[in-house]
Amino acid sequence: MTANDIYASLGVKRRINAAGTLTRLGGALMAPEVIAAMAAAARASVDIAELQAAASRTIARITGAEAALVTTGAAAALTLGTAAAMTRWDVAKMAALPHAEAFAHEVIIPRTHRTGYAHAFAAAGARLIDIGHNDRGTGAGVRGLEAWEIEAAITPRTAAFAFAANIESVKDLPTVVAVCRERGIPVIVDAAAQLPPKGNLTRFIELGADLVAFSGGKAIGGPQASGILAGRRDLIGAALVQQIDMDVAPETWSPPELIDRAKLTGVPHHGLGRGFKAGKEEIVGLLAALERFVSADDAATNSALEKRLQAIAAALQGARGVATRIVPASVTGRVPVIEVAIDPGAAGCSAIELSGRLQKGDPPVHLSERFTARGVLTVDPQVLQPEDDAALAAAIRRALG
Ligand SMILES: *Cc1c(COP(=O)(O)O)cnc(C)c1O
Repeated sequence: MTANDIYASLGVKRRINAAGTLTRLGGALMAPEVIAAMAAAARASVDIAELQAAASRTIARITGAEAALVTTGAAAALTLGTAAAMTRWDVAKMAALPHAEAFAHEVIIPRTHRTGYAHAFAAAGARLIDIGHNDRGTGAGVRGLEAWEIEAAITPRTAAFAFAANIESVKDLPTVVAVCRERGIPVIVDAAAQLPPKGNLTRFIELGADLVAFSGGKAIGGPQASGILAGRRDLIGAALVQQIDMDVAPETWSPPELIDRAKLTGVPHHGLGRGFKAGKEEIVGLLAALERFVSADDAATNSALEKRLQAIAAALQGARGVATRIVPASVTGRVPVIEVAIDPGAAGCSAIELSGRLQKGDPPVHLSERFTARGVLTVDPQVLQPEDDAALAAAIRRALG
């Protein structure tokens, strides 16, 4: 059965995705060997905690972290990491979550790091404490995060520091680490979509982050509902025990070493993370995808993508009100893209109107709307299938009338 067949049988349209690894479009597409690994994993019983311990070893080797676990996405990783930072090995605190008012439960977050995903920290029961200014963002000033404002926000109630990594914000990470480490406050980095470049798999750990979250279903090319939490062994262990099935007999429970039974104050029940349980298929699929992602030749991948983008740009030559520009990976920091600038006067529609038309077309086509405020639609080729390249260009020409 093909992808077309399965979706057609459900009455769901297949879409041309030149918008990137968006969750609402199903994220990454998996390579045949990743699919094969998941299918094979589906056919035998294993101890999930033992499998997570194996995943920890593989991810630790690749990221340089002490330990790691596979979650159901980066958002789940952030929630589990926050839970671990609040509870450590205390079973009573694990049992209390998400009601954490009785112990340290504040997560400090810079205003400039407040993405929609900050909800994932709060979901563990934490209270978010906003700090700092959005000086640069508003164009009113030039300053970023400063040590004194972090120090001023830390109290005995502080459980963790939330840091949203990107190409700009990362320069503040050493300051955050320096202030927080001295005071025993774990720094949790949201690096969900900071791949490629694959150097970022090790970068935030190297810079001193205690925990880092990555999406498995974006650039890594793993199952859509997978993610990674990597970092300090004690925090990963405390996160894992709150994720796995704990309907166990204490007499026969034999957790992997990652879970430090000597430090645990008892045998926990199902934890806050039960709703984020990763299956054997996701764990194995994520590992297969991660191995493939790190061994890929980025330069070769990007030059092949650039060739395809040149052909798409050439097919758009002369289209009404449209100017294209290929932005190389060295500039985007990820993959090469085409910026399609729309001149509303000549095109008869704005960038966002064109995007709306494309999404309603047959087949529906999605371009990235990230830069529509400056009149640009972006062709992001991360998930674009080569056989759709010509149809994509034709759809844009058609939508322009
Ligand atoms: C995608 C994303 C997430 C959520 O990742 P999932 O793997 O979909 O849970 C969190 N933070 C940022 C910045 C993201 O881009």
